Amino acid sequence: MLIATISGYYCNNKMQADILIIGAGASGLMAGMQLSRKGKKVLVLEARDRIGGRIHTITNRGFKQATELGAEFVHGKLPVTLALLKEAKIKPLDAVGDMWRYADGRFHKSEQFLVHYEVIIKKLNALKTDITLDEFLTRYLSAKKYTETCSMLRNFAAGYDTADPSRFSAFAMRKELQSEDDDHQYRVNGGYCTMIGYLESEIVKNGGIVSLSTIVKELQWEQGMVKAIAADGREFTAQKVIMALPLGVLQANKHDEGAIAFTPPIPEREHALQQMGMGNVIKLLLQFDEVFWEKQAIKKGAKADVKEMSYLFSTETIPTWWTQRPHTIPLLTGWLGGPAAENLKNADDEYILNLGLLSLSNIYDMPVASLRAKLTAHQVVNWPADPFIRGSYSYATIFTNEARKLLAQPVQDTIYFTGEFMYDGPEMGTVEAALASGKEVADGIGSRG
Ligand SMILES: Cc1cc2nc3c(=O)[nH]c(=O)nc-3n(C[C@H](O)[C@H](O)[C@H](O)COP(=O)(O)OP(=O)(O)OC[C@H]3O[C@@H](n4cnc5c(N)ncnc54)[C@H](O)[C@@H]3O)c2cc1C
Repeated sequence: MLIATISGYYCNNKMQADILIIGAGASGLMAGMQLSRKGKKVLVLEARDRIGGRIHTITNRGFKQATELGAEFVHGKLPVTLALLKEAKIKPLDAVGDMWRYADGRFHKSEQFLVHYEVIIKKLNALKTDITLDEFLTRYLSAKKYTETCSMLRNFAAGYDTADPSRFSAFAMRKELQSEDDDHQYRVNGGYCTMIGYLESEIVKNGGIVSLSTIVKELQWEQGMVKAIAADGREFTAQKVIMALPLGVLQANKHDEGAIAFTPPIPEREHALQQMGMGNVIKLLLQFDEVFWEKQAIKKGAKADVKEMSYLFSTETIPTWWTQRPHTIPLLTGWLGGPAAENLKNADDEYILNLGLLSLSNIYDMPVASLRAKLTAHQVVNWPADPFIRGSYSYATIFTNEARKLLAQPVQDTIYFTGEFMYDGPEMGTVEAALASGKEVADGIGSRG
């Protein structure tokens, strides 16, 4: 059956489909599922030997439960994600817990971190045109009394948005500070990979193909015809192509590993891609032999409710940490976002692991050697160093809206862009954004026939 299906894709020894999709992350697979359900012959080309892209759940390497190396949370009641999980019969699990801050040698339970909030909002609301966050802080919050506030805002942009404050949009910061988003979070039962597996199985069920270990390096095209050429010389043709790649890959120099050259070039689109922002993040997954952090925090004066801690924010080198609340599992996740993560792009994992242990050592007053002895499994995930991602997720620059509008127009009804960076709604940079964008591009192609 599989051979019969695949042979339907061959013509003159070349693989041929109605639609090529380059990239088997959430957006590409969502587009693939939708189009294959409409009877299109879909061929998904993926560089790696696995699907999922920035969704990567592992269940081995010494970890006792499904562990997310990339996306982990569903940030609120997100319509496309929750509908897909429901359809796939996968349960979202509550991920509730408290936010804490470690500062001046003490643990503080805290919801609102930002001092001078009202002043910031007033000044942001007075902005008539968008400027970068750095420019905003220099122009409007340069007084000495705002020094701490400025560094909090920069840390927020770098930590949450994984953005470079010198490119991050002040309007986007305003939107985030004023957003009344439901901050209830979920994890996915069995890990996000279960959802990704469902998308792939639907594509295959509908006669589509997902080709792994297929690094596309060139896209030759003319109106109504595309030819993707892989690094190993294989060629794949179709009438249309959906570029479901990370922004970091689309921004890379065409000679870099993973990058794709357009022949002929599409200069306006390529310029628009450069104007958008791709963030950076390094994630550390540290599994210990026990949940030592609760008793250590209590020893340092924290109240007993520190046991409910989900997030801990600090000013250590690896500043943000979270637990698996509401579950008591001896796993801590460290998070370093923004320019600091980019600066460590070329560092080796052992060096980054040490920075993580040193940060925990400072917070919990435990020697690095003791923490290391307690480690039972660990992973350092340096996403900026990954040639097929080259960063974390997108953030808004002052040019993003215009750039996205241009990229949303297909090139001669032949080249389409999708991915989390193409999403225009409030949940930019998320799995929801990727799924919604994949669905939207498929709907657009479906309606054009
Ligand atoms: C550390 C981290 C934590 C995150 N946490 C969350 C979270 O908690 N919640 C949330 O909603 N979102 C989170 N995100 C964001 C979320 O993971 C992404 O927005 C989403 O998964 C992106 O999907 P995508 O399809 O746009 O891109 P991707 O998942 O990046 O898919 C693109 C695919 O293209 C492939 N590719 C690249 N180059 C080539 C090539 N030359 N040829 C063929 N294939 C190629 C890649 O291998 C990849 O599989 C997180 C991201 C990171 C990095």
